[in-house]
Amino acid sequence: MLKISHIFDADQITRLLDSTRDSSREKIEKILQKTKKMKGLNLEEAATLINADDSYTDAMFKTAGYIKSEIYGERLVLFAPLYVSNYCVNDCDYCGFHARNKEKRIKLSLKEVEEQTRILINMGHKRLLLEFGEHPKKCPIEYVIDVIKTIYNVKEGRGEIRRVNVNIAATSAEDYKKLKAAEIGTYQLFQETYHRKTYEEIHKGPKANFERQLFAHDRAFEAGIDDVGLGVLYGLYDWKFDTLALLSHAFYLDNKYGVGPHTFSVPRLQSAPTVDKEWMYAVSEEELLKIIAILRMAVPYTGMIISTRERPEIREKAFELGISQTSAASQTSPGGYGKEKALNQFMTSDERSVDEVIEKILDDGFLPSFCTACYRLGRTGQDFMDIAKPGEIHNFCRPNAILTLKEYLEDYASKRSKAKGLEIIDKYVKQIPSESIRNRTINRLKLIEKGERDLYF
Ligand code: SAM
Ligand code: SF4
Repeated sequence: MLKISHIFDADQITRLLDSTRDSSREKIEKILQKTKKMKGLNLEEAATLINADDSYTDAMFKTAGYIKSEIYGERLVLFAPLYVSNYCVNDCDYCGFHARNKEKRIKLSLKEVEEQTRILINMGHKRLLLEFGEHPKKCPIEYVIDVIKTIYNVKEGRGEIRRVNVNIAATSAEDYKKLKAAEIGTYQLFQETYHRKTYEEIHKGPKANFERQLFAHDRAFEAGIDDVGLGVLYGLYDWKFDTLALLSHAFYLDNKYGVGPHTFSVPRLQSAPTVDKEWMYAVSEEELLKIIAILRMAVPYTGMIISTRERPEIREKAFELGISQTSAASQTSPGGYGKEKALNQFMTSDERSVDEVIEKILDDGFLPSFCTACYRLGRTGQDFMDIAKPGEIHNFCRPNAILTLKEYLEDYASKRSKAKGLEIIDKYVKQIPSESIRNRTINRLKLIEKGERDLYF
């Protein structure tokens, strides 16, 4: 029977955080050298870096930046969250949707889902992350499935949503089977905090069951979903403990299923409607960047997501340190992309449009990507990990990023970002290692100019 201690051992984590407190310079530098081999870190090594003082921050950022650019190169994948319902039976102390909040709730009808999807497609998006409060009566799994089907069926101009990731409350293996059959991309679920006592204090309702949350990814794997995302809501408890526990969870999944999590999310607590609790473990922006750098060094091949919870300046720094996916122009209320302004979950700190975000990404020399190829070619789980090696990523992901950026530039970009985007495409096409794929990419770019869409390797 699955036990919490299979996934992480709270006592071991506390011991490691104690025993690595005064590590020598030599030890820390040796670990930083080791991370450059891109084989990851064990828990003790990660704890040592977590405890390293600020004099190592620059060295850590440099090393994490090196790994990010070796493995992910210049690509940065964009997506948007789509909030479908703010009904919730849980009372999570940090969330604007908590049951205690008596504000009116709404759930989108399928027609409204379609309208929101059209708006998102017209912004240039190809990937969505669905967000629901937990409400078995208002949002049973059948409704979630209908929403997914509705989104996949929308065609708008030359665009469509090609990958739907889902962030719904922990549920049964039966329900996960249904999600799998509906062809979701990643199933994301955050543990929020791995500190059991804190977890149980700040949650009320079905989500308060620590084991239900912690074992959810196992149920998802058992149901055939091999593409899962983990996360911590930073600010609920000590970030050092939660980061080590998150890593332990990732190592556990990797050992047990032969494939680790597809992504880590690193949300930081934001102010939210009717949430007035004082939190004792605030995580600063500098600490968040350090967390991102340490995760990148510890698990080099796991994607990492940053959201519009963070200010543009921090997001940009985070892109350099290890982030591989970012949301853009997000709304956190159901119907938020239209006129309707329903209760939102929390406040965001980046109000820029997709085009503004893209322009800045281009200015910084990154390659914005809307790629969904791996998932659609069935390259998930272990198959994805097999191509997630530096050389292969550059041969598959770089061309696919270029092709999806080209679609964006043709269909949605402003004049300014189009000019900048074409320059970036020119620069990175030349860097595709395989000559044959490079030539095929150039041909496909011409086909996109002629109106063809959805070309990928
Ligand atoms: N209701 C489901 C759940 O709780 O698992 C689905 C996800 S919920 C819509 C998305 C995530 O938002 C939560 O897992 C939580 O980490 C995050 N969140 C909630 N309140 C937040 C806040 N005040 N600031 C930042 N993130 C928050
Ligand atoms: Fe509901 Fe999720 Fe918000 Fe908790 S975090 S109140 S479960 S929407």
